[in-house]
Amino acid sequence: MDFLPLKNWLGDIEGPLLIAGPCSAESEEQVMETAKQIKEAGQATVFRAGIWKPRTRPNCFEGVGEEGLKWLAKVKKEYGLLTCCEVANARHVELALKHGVDILWIGARTTANPFSVQEIADRLHGIDIPVMVKNPISADLPLWIGAIERIHGAGINKIIAIHRGFSSEGSKYRNRPLWRIPIELKSRFPSLPIICDPSHIAGKRSYLKEVCQKAMDVNTDGLMIETHICPNEALSDAAQQVTPEQLKEIMTTLDLKVEYIENKDFEEQLDQYRTIIDRIDSEIIEALKQRMEAVDQIGRIKQKNHVTVLQRERMADLIQKRMKLGTSYGLKENYIKELYDIIHSESVKHQTELIATIGKKNKKSS
Ligand code: PEP
Ligand code: MN
Repeated sequence: MDFLPLKNWLGDIEGPLLIAGPCSAESEEQVMETAKQIKEAGQATVFRAGIWKPRTRPNCFEGVGEEGLKWLAKVKKEYGLLTCCEVANARHVELALKHGVDILWIGARTTANPFSVQEIADRLHGIDIPVMVKNPISADLPLWIGAIERIHGAGINKIIAIHRGFSSEGSKYRNRPLWRIPIELKSRFPSLPIICDPSHIAGKRSYLKEVCQKAMDVNTDGLMIETHICPNEALSDAAQQVTPEQLKEIMTTLDLKVEYIENKDFEEQLDQYRTIIDRIDSEIIEALKQRMEAVDQIGRIKQKNHVTVLQRERMADLIQKRMKLGTSYGLKENYIKELYDIIHSESVKHQTELIATIGKKNKKSS
């Protein structure tokens, strides 16, 4: 898939693309005043507001509906900001187009549902409007790619992927960022612009700045930040929204980096360490090969003695010991755990396949 670069359809933007606005459009006054202050703050190109809100439970505020689209049109007219809103079905698309919304976005819950994404894609066929696709709630990269493919399949190449984090417990954030997933998406589709929605990752405004900085450090193309004139009174996502003034403070204090510079000295310094890393990586792969040979020998012994491949106690003990060793070298416990989960599960798979092959051979020869 090929995607149009942001600058080809948004023009030249200084710094990262900023999309700001409330989680939800609540009233004309709230929308207009928020837009005014965002415009004055000066960094945003696009104004966002949820018109139809997907809520986990019924009887919560579910958005103002079509009425709010008129306010977005007014924002565009008075402040010259482009506008965007979430669409979850063909009817939403129709209404958003009718009121001249500039960019649509597909929310995390909708991305997870291929029927809904296809319905939206079908409605968009032949229409030239940019679409942003949020990641699905679960850490499922193929599902995210699938939604992007469906929109791309409708003939749209002005697409932005939005990384908004993944639902999971046990994190200080509302949604775990799992940065490796958007990074993997970028490496599979280098021309696809990706922006970060730090508001839904953070869940709390006090964490917002650090998530924005991290997004910039991994070279994200922009940010979508929920902004409200009175965040504490917001009808949805009150804890994570910031005032336009706080938005400005975040944007002006971000440490922006560049991906490449042309500097011989810098290149030489990096090369020196990259050579070390290249050597270590080939040693790691050689060691993994030797490890797998030992694993196979164990598999043969287990097969002869009618012992199961998976020995739970041994597995728990091994991972525990490796974690202890890793932490003694200052490596994060979770890093070692995830690494050994992969190494160990591949070993079990290898042994299972080997034993199945030996089993078949024995049957043939008996
Ligand atoms: C939102 O942007 O307000 C929203 C509902 O986001 P998500 O789909 O990421 O939960
Ligand atoms: Mn929200």
